[in-house]
Amino acid sequence: MDFAGIVAASRDRGRRLWRDGSARLLDWLLPERCRSCDAPGAALCAACLGDWPRLPEDRCAYCALPVAANGDCPVCALEAPAWDYCFTPFVYDTPLDTAISAWKFGDRLDWTRPLAAAWVAAMGSQPPSRPACLIPVPLHRARLRERGFNQSELLARHWGRSYHIPVRAHVQRQRNTPHQVGMSKAARLGNLRGAFCLRGRPPTHVAIVDDVLTTGSTLQEIAQVLRAAGVERIDAWILARAT
Ligand SMILES: [Zn+2]
Ligand SMILES: [Zn+2]
Repeated sequence: MDFAGIVAASRDRGRRLWRDGSARLLDWLLPERCRSCDAPGAALCAACLGDWPRLPEDRCAYCALPVAANGDCPVCALEAPAWDYCFTPFVYDTPLDTAISAWKFGDRLDWTRPLAAAWVAAMGSQPPSRPACLIPVPLHRARLRERGFNQSELLARHWGRSYHIPVRAHVQRQRNTPHQVGMSKAARLGNLRGAFCLRGRPPTHVAIVDDVLTTGSTLQEIAQVLRAAGVERIDAWILARAT
């Protein structure tokens, strides 16, 4: 190794020691506490994670809702959605819905890590599928300015790092749409028509990332844009399913 190499190596080592040291100092000054019950130890304690409602094992591959006794999904058997598979472990219900609301609307960005990590813990050390990239559901820039962050992108970045899958903004929101809370599925679909456009050339297997799946109208609209661009397999990686 020449002199420049030795200098670079010691600089890297110094940075690493500094980073480790400052992380330890931060832990000592501000010990980690459960975001939910304030117990010391972890960002989310095992007891609080255990309280999060989970979907049953027998659920529809498309929409993640429980299937009927004959194994059919009462909704997707009539008309299959434009995506291929939905991976989500949790039900959007108390107390998880309170946590997600605090995270998105209450400036509680410290919830990002425990929420994203809980999904990874539920899925396991291998990703549920191996898409070539993760595509977060985009926010319109006006909404992004208002909120300051895109919750789907935060999840995608965490999951991408955990499973070594790149995050790519292949879909953009070209039109701002009114809030969808309280709208029927048909009204939501009308509201979203033409709201998304493609950016760049997506790979043949992708996963769309979102925090909550409700009627699936956003996912449907984005999946159609991707399908029209030639994407062959579209998964959905979702934090929680509203039932
Ligand atoms: Zn707790
Ligand atoms: Zn279904």
